[in-house]
Amino acid sequence: MNRIDEAEIVVIGGGVIGCAVAWQLADRERRSVLVVERNDIGGAASSRAAGLITPLRPSAADNWFVAQTLAAFAELTASLGEPVGFRQVGTILIAASPESETRLTAMTAAADSSGTAYEWIDRKEAERRLPWLSAAGACRIAWVPSGGFIDPYLLTQAYARAARAAGARIRSRIAVERIVIDDGRACAVQTDQGRIACRAVVLAAGSWSGPLASQLGLPLGMAPVRSHYWITGPDPAFAADQPVALLPDAASYTRPEQNRLVIGAREARSPSYDARTLPADMGSLSMGSEEERWNGLIERRDALGAFLPRLDALDMVHFIAGLSAYTADGRQIVGPAPGIAGLTVATGCCGMGIATSAGIAKIVADLIAGRPSTVDREPYRPDRFGSFDPYHPDFLEQCALARTAKSGAVSAMQQYAVDRDRHQRSGEGQS
Ligand SMILES: Cc1cc2nc3c(=O)[nH]c(=O)nc-3n(C[C@H](O)[C@H](O)[C@H](O)COP(=O)(O)OP(=O)(O)OC[C@H]3O[C@@H](n4cnc5c(N)ncnc54)[C@H](O)[C@@H]3O)c2cc1C
Repeated sequence: MNRIDEAEIVVIGGGVIGCAVAWQLADRERRSVLVVERNDIGGAASSRAAGLITPLRPSAADNWFVAQTLAAFAELTASLGEPVGFRQVGTILIAASPESETRLTAMTAAADSSGTAYEWIDRKEAERRLPWLSAAGACRIAWVPSGGFIDPYLLTQAYARAARAAGARIRSRIAVERIVIDDGRACAVQTDQGRIACRAVVLAAGSWSGPLASQLGLPLGMAPVRSHYWITGPDPAFAADQPVALLPDAASYTRPEQNRLVIGAREARSPSYDARTLPADMGSLSMGSEEERWNGLIERRDALGAFLPRLDALDMVHFIAGLSAYTADGRQIVGPAPGIAGLTVATGCCGMGIATSAGIAKIVADLIAGRPSTVDREPYRPDRFGSFDPYHPDFLEQCALARTAKSGAVSAMQQYAVDRDRHQRSGEGQS
């Protein structure tokens, strides 16, 4: 293969975000793009996701991101001449406490303002759609017909193929060592195979983005956090056309996998990692001991068992775990690197990078083109956390908490700021 030494736009990372960005830029914007991937395309977080596409989210902006991805499925299918494999089985959201009912009501208000279709259904209807479900404890149940799931690896490959068809170059087995800045402008990437000159860089290296940004003095407010799910053995109660279930009171979700059930359950405290210590390949990272692998399910046993009474009798045959980059406030990081022209950051996916991929890519394209975006970009700015140490154990803890709490993520960041100020003040008092 010829050595590449220049490109107009270099995208660092060939996960779902990098490939969606490449597709957006090459196909819709007719820009010249090169994706540089250290391992295999889609081989990191993007091959491990449960692939839920959940259109009803806490904010209208999040709903917009997901709507872009749903629209992309149709476009990719048309341009590739074959379906991308989206299983539009619908999503059932069950609130079983006053708190989650309040959150669900707020989500439907966001849906109303963003045009996301949903309807309220009763317990009987939910149990008809999901015959294994007990909805006895439900206060409110929403049905979202546009929801479903997709194979995340195949989606990443679909973005990559469509990007290639539009002229993008996508190269694996090239590692970026640093982003080269000249006179305040990103002008090249230094790789393990030489320097690639460019006019713009998009940093989409997932959990590994932080250290590349830190080299430039830009702390990214995120940390790699473990996510996981289990897959049962075949069972006649489960069927491929059953909807996705979101069960916030059990911090859990389910989706069908043919005649098996995928069960995701968040632990009270997910492990977070210092990104500087990650191996280059997620496959070589230990995802916890055999015992730890069951903790998430054991912790949620009673709460989940209330919805899935047969939980204890199910045969769990697979455990899938991987890292997602969580920010301390639960919002992705998408925007221009402060003080560095030509560098755009697209990372900190907060466990929703598959569902929001095309929306993120659209924002990146708007930024590169110098256009306004449909959604307000301010909340996603890379520099919104101010000056801080992204590798401090307290900060890593807050990112883990953002996953655990999900909807409580903003208060996690606020708590971090309070703790940081308190530490600083007590430090000052002692000196
Ligand atoms: C268990 C699990 C379940 C999940 N479930 C869902 C879900 O249901 N729905 C959903 O929307 N999301 C889900 N997610 C989250 C989703 O997987 C991520 O949001 C998404 O894959 C992030 O994509 P990415 O491109 O940012 O990162 P990645 O897929 O990790 O891609 C980053 C790429 O950058 C490359 N890279 C890193 N450093 C360099 C370098 N220096 N040079 C070149 N290349 C580099 C890496 O090799 C990697 O391929 C889940 C995640 C996990 C782990």
